[in-house]
Amino acid sequence: MSHAEGVPHAVVTGGAGFLGSHLCDALLHTGYRVTCIDNFETGRRANVEHLRDTPTFRLLRGDMSDGVEVDEPVDVIFHLAGPAAPSDYLLDPVSTMRIASVGTINALDLARDRSARFALASTSEIYGAATDEPNREDDAGHVNPADGYGAYYEARRFAEALTTAYHTTYNLPTAIARIFNTYGPRMRLDDGRMLSRFIRQALAGAPLTVPGSGSETRSLCYVDDAVAGIMALASGAYPGPVNIGSPDEVTILSIARDVAEIAGRSGEMIFVEAPPNEVHTRKPDISLALQLLGWRPRTSVRDGLADTLAWFRDAGVRHV
Ligand code: NAD
Repeated sequence: MSHAEGVPHAVVTGGAGFLGSHLCDALLHTGYRVTCIDNFETGRRANVEHLRDTPTFRLLRGDMSDGVEVDEPVDVIFHLAGPAAPSDYLLDPVSTMRIASVGTINALDLARDRSARFALASTSEIYGAATDEPNREDDAGHVNPADGYGAYYEARRFAEALTTAYHTTYNLPTAIARIFNTYGPRMRLDDGRMLSRFIRQALAGAPLTVPGSGSETRSLCYVDDAVAGIMALASGAYPGPVNIGSPDEVTILSIARDVAEIAGRSGEMIFVEAPPNEVHTRKPDISLALQLLGWRPRTSVRDGLADTLAWFRDAGVRHV
C-alpha cells in the first residue's frame, strides 16, 4: 500500500500492542501517516484491525531485534516494542533484554539514518522496588540486576542510557517517557495485573478477589491520557526522562467496587493473600510533565473504568 505524500510519517514499534495501537489511532487522528512494526509477540492483529482500510496506515510484521527496513522518509519513531507485563517479560528474559538493547539500537539507528525524532517508551519499573514515592525523574532508582526481575528493569535502564547516548553523541532529538501503570480498552486481561483480574472476574460474573485488606493504593492512568503525554513529549525538545502517569491514588477496594458496579455485578468480594508477583504500582511526581508540556491526566478512574468495561463488553470473550 503506498502512503499519501506530504504528511508527516510516524513509525510505531510495538504498534499492535495495547499502548501502541492507541498511539497509532491518535497519530492518524492528528494527521500523521503511520507505519506500525510488530512481531505480535504480545500484541494482536485485532488491535489494529479497525485500521486495515485506512490508506495512511501500514502494518509491517517484523522483529525489532533483527533490524527493520522502512523504505521511505520518517519524521518520528515511537519505540514501544517489548513486553510490558511480568507474565510476558519473565517468560523469556533473554529475549526481553535483546529487544530492549539490540531492538532499541536498531530503532535508534533508523531514527539517525532518517534524521527522525525518537521517543522511547520507558517504564516506572526502572525506579526499582524500594524507592520513595512519588517518584521524581532525578530519583536514581534502587534496583538489583540479579533479583529475577533485572531482565526487565535493567534492560530498560540500558535503553534509556542508549537513547541518551545517541542524543549526546549524534545530537539525535530524543524523548524518554517513563510510563506508569496504564489501563484502558485493549489492555490484556491475562497479564497477571490486579485490574486485569478484576475486569476478567467482573465480566465473568465471578466474585472479585481483593488482595490483603484492599486498603493498599494504586495510581492508574487512562490510556488516552498516557498517549497524549507521550505525543506531547515527542514533539518537544526535552531529551531527559519524563514521568507519564497518574499521581492520584485510589484504594484497591474502591477500584474493585467501581469495576463491580460498572459491570452491573453484585460486588461480591473475596479477600485473599496478595499474590507474590502482584505488581505494586508506583506513584509518579508529574511536576516536570506539567511544567514542560502542560500535561496531566484528565480522565477520572471511574470514567476510564466505565469506558474500559464498555469496550470489553462490546469486544466479547475473544479478547478476554
Ligand atoms: P504490549 O505487550 O501490549 O505491547 C508491546 C508490543 O511490542 C506488542 O505488540 C508486541 O507484540 C511488540 N513486540 C514485542 N517484542 C517485539 C519485537 N522484538 N519486535 C517488534 N515488536 C515487538 O505492552 P504495552 O502495555 O502496550 O506497552 C508498550 C510499551 O510501553 C512497552 O515498552 C512497555 O514496557 C511500556 N510500558 C507500558 C506500561 C503499561 O502500563 N502498559 C507501563 C510502563 C511502560
